[in-house]
Amino acid sequence: MKLGNLDIAIVSGGRFWIDGGGMFGVVPRPLWERVFPPDDKHRIPQETNCLLVRDGERNILIDTGYGSKLSDKQRRNFSADDGEPLVESLAAHGLTREDIDVVIFSHLHFDHAGGATRIDENGDIVLAFPNAELVAQRREWVDATAGYPELRAAYPQDNLDLLLDCGKVRLIDGDVEIVPGIRSQVTGGHTDGHQVLIIESEGESAVFLGDICSTSRHLPVLWCLGYDVHMQQTRRAKAKVLEQIIATNAIAIFDHDPDIGAARLRRDDRKDFAVADNLGFL
Ligand SMILES: [Zn+2]
Repeated sequence: MKLGNLDIAIVSGGRFWIDGGGMFGVVPRPLWERVFPPDDKHRIPQETNCLLVRDGERNILIDTGYGSKLSDKQRRNFSADDGEPLVESLAAHGLTREDIDVVIFSHLHFDHAGGATRIDENGDIVLAFPNAELVAQRREWVDATAGYPELRAAYPQDNLDLLLDCGKVRLIDGDVEIVPGIRSQVTGGHTDGHQVLIIESEGESAVFLGDICSTSRHLPVLWCLGYDVHMQQTRRAKAKVLEQIIATNAIAIFDHDPDIGAARLRRDDRKDFAVADNLGFL
C-alpha cells in the first residue's frame, strides 16, 4: 500500500510453529489458548512478517526472518518452511536479492537476522542480500556477539560471524533517522538493544513493532513473551509505543502475527489496546 510517498508491503520470511507458553510467558494457558489454539505439541503458528519499504530510489527491508540455514532438527521442531521464503516473497514484488539496498534489524534473534545470510552452492555462508547495507543497534550487536552462554540459542553465531567481517554493517546508537523516512526508537525489554522502526511520509506513518508486541494477541500490555530479557520494561515500552500509534493514527505492524500483519488500533477498556481495523498484510 501507499504510505505518503512510500510503498510499503509485508513480505513473509517464513512461517514456523513455536511453543505457545514461550510466546505468552506468565499469561496462564487457559487465557492464551482461547486466542491462539495450540496444536497437539502445544505449538502455535507464527509468521515472520518483514517489511519492504520502497521510496523510488531504495528498496529497504526490515528484518529477514529465520532464513535457510536452520538445521534439520530445528526445521523439524519449528515445522519451518523450506527454501528461502523471504527471497520467494520478494520475487512476488518483482525484486531479487540483489535489489535490496538496506536491511534494518529490529534485533538480532535468529528469527529476525537468520535470513541475512544463506549457504551458497559451495557450502559457504554468504550474504543473502549482497548489495545491502545492514543496520543494527550497537547495543544489540554487542550483546549478540559477546558470546554470553545464556544467549547462545537466541543468537546463533553462524548468522553473525560473516556480518562481523563483511564491512557492510552500520551500527547506530539510540533513536536516529536511518534513511529518510525511517527512524529507530529503542525500546529495550525484549532485548536491551531492541528497537521499533517508525516509517513516515507526508503525515502518514507505520510502526514496525518487532517483538515488543509480536502479534495482535499481545496488545494487552501485560501479555508478553517468555523470551523477554526484561518483562516489565517490555510492558512499559509497549504501552508507550501503542499510545503513540493511536495518537498519530499510525499503522501497527505485527512481526509474528499469522493472520493480522498490520492494523489500525484503538483503546479498549478490557484489553488496553485492540485492533480497530485489520489491514491484513498490506
Ligand atoms: Zn521474534
